[in-house]
Amino acid sequence: MHKSPNHNAQLRELLDLDNSRRGMKPKSSTFAATSQKIDALRGKLPTALLSHYDARRSRGKVPIAPVIKGVCRACHLSLPKGRVADLSRGDDAVQVCENCGAFIYMESEETTSLEPPMAATPKSKKRPLSKAK
Ligand SMILES: [Zn+2]
Repeated sequence: MHKSPNHNAQLRELLDLDNSRRGMKPKSSTFAATSQKIDALRGKLPTALLSHYDARRSRGKVPIAPVIKGVCRACHLSLPKGRVADLSRGDDAVQVCENCGAFIYMESEETTSLEPPMAATPKSKKRPLSKAK
């Protein structure tokens, strides 16, 4: 039996790929290669996680964010101590911030840069301003 897949890591990789693909020309070979990687990665992730991820991205929100010193980097609110303890126990279960709904993972303070996580800013794409009826 091998270890269960770390969906947190996969989600982070997916976000990386998605973010980098946004700057690529759709006809370029790097775009195609990245799209392939994205497809492969998405194939490994449960649908429930993907739809949450996609829903957040499509609303221009951070899909997954590190927790640093007990604070979610997506919404900058402190998480309950018990939550932080769960996270730091390092199991691979995907956790969601109860304040903002982002996927969260524990980031060790040493390796953390102070850059905020890349938000999925829908800049070039036109987005429907009033989708809700
Ligand atoms: Zn949050």
